[in-house]
Amino acid sequence: MRPDTKLVAFEPAPGDPCRPNSTPIYQTATFAQESALEFGRYDYTRSGNPTRDVLERHVARLESASRAFAFASGMAAIAALLRQLPAGSRIVAGDDLYGGSVRWLDRIGPRNGLSPSYVDASDLAAVERALDGGAKLVLVETPSNPRLSIADIAAIAELAHRRGALLAVDNSAMSPHRQRPLELGADIVLHSATKHLGGHGDATGGIVAVKDDALASELAFFQNAEGTALAPFECWLLLRGIKTLGVRIEREEQSALAVAEFLARSKFATRVHHPGLAAHPGREVHARQASGTGCLVSFETGDADLSRRWIEALELFTIAVSFGSTDSQASLPCWMSHKSVPKDRVGSRTLPRDLVRLSIGLEDPLDLIEDLERGLEIARRARSSGRLDVRLGSP
Ligand SMILES: *Cc1c(COP(=O)(O)O)cnc(C)c1O
Repeated sequence: MRPDTKLVAFEPAPGDPCRPNSTPIYQTATFAQESALEFGRYDYTRSGNPTRDVLERHVARLESASRAFAFASGMAAIAALLRQLPAGSRIVAGDDLYGGSVRWLDRIGPRNGLSPSYVDASDLAAVERALDGGAKLVLVETPSNPRLSIADIAAIAELAHRRGALLAVDNSAMSPHRQRPLELGADIVLHSATKHLGGHGDATGGIVAVKDDALASELAFFQNAEGTALAPFECWLLLRGIKTLGVRIEREEQSALAVAEFLARSKFATRVHHPGLAAHPGREVHARQASGTGCLVSFETGDADLSRRWIEALELFTIAVSFGSTDSQASLPCWMSHKSVPKDRVGSRTLPRDLVRLSIGLEDPLDLIEDLERGLEIARRARSSGRLDVRLGSP
């Protein structure tokens, strides 16, 4: 089955005698039991729910995993994975990760006896050196958020496995429709399902998908024991979102590339990051491991005040922290989604203060480009007349 077919061809309600063609929302906390000593397939929604089961099986199949688990958010999913690690474990993590992941690693990790060390995941020699210090887990995003740098999944999996570490890939930016890390040798796939899988900006959710049965059992145990599973209605929203993932992502990618090319021609965007651009240093690795280039574009202007004024002057882009939704969004990661990244890393190569992240939605790309041109004009005029009223200080 080809990827587009796989998205929609799944059994919506296994075993339901009414044979509904859309998965019902089994909005119930408990399930009646045959007797005090005879239990059915389900007993309590925290432990298991038919709507969640359909979602988890569907995503597992899309990611070529043996099992997937749906959590209340991407962070709940990431936490459920990281909490599996024994105290004393070292985690080698990409140095351009979602801000919430960095917050967990830096502030909750140590309370669980875990220590993160960050490395440029696009540099295999650096990853290898970091692994030589001993590690239980490597955690990367590719393309990373927000700088869209590329990590070679197959090569890192090999380096990690040779040293007895597992590789987890946060696949939020690509979705299984474009990139399937488990097929490339990774052990664990993570998602903020809030992004592409939901796709409409109306639900939060997270996924952990794995190949290994023992790890799957541990995750199932944690999901139930800690009560962090995704609620039935959100599971249904994700199932509905996944059905249109293929057409949404295809359109978003075409538009994102057009926007990236427009920005690359502008002298006011001093650096443009997008894996579809010929000049992107990770372009070849990305093209080898993914079948599309995603909806994200990020760029620098050399001037954080100009960046801020530019996105504030946009009419079609909402200033918001998420991505992968139907409408386009703009953000300053340094001040928004990545605010919890430690101050000493802000303004560095990985998190420039002037970095703008755009998430491209389903609007006509010409309207988006016109909006960016108009916004830039307003921002430039404000700058040249000294009317950048509020100067950005530190985030
Ligand atoms: C948003 C995001 C997360 C966190 O997911 P939530 O659903 O917001 O908890 C994790 N990783 C990446 C790459 C993200 O973009």
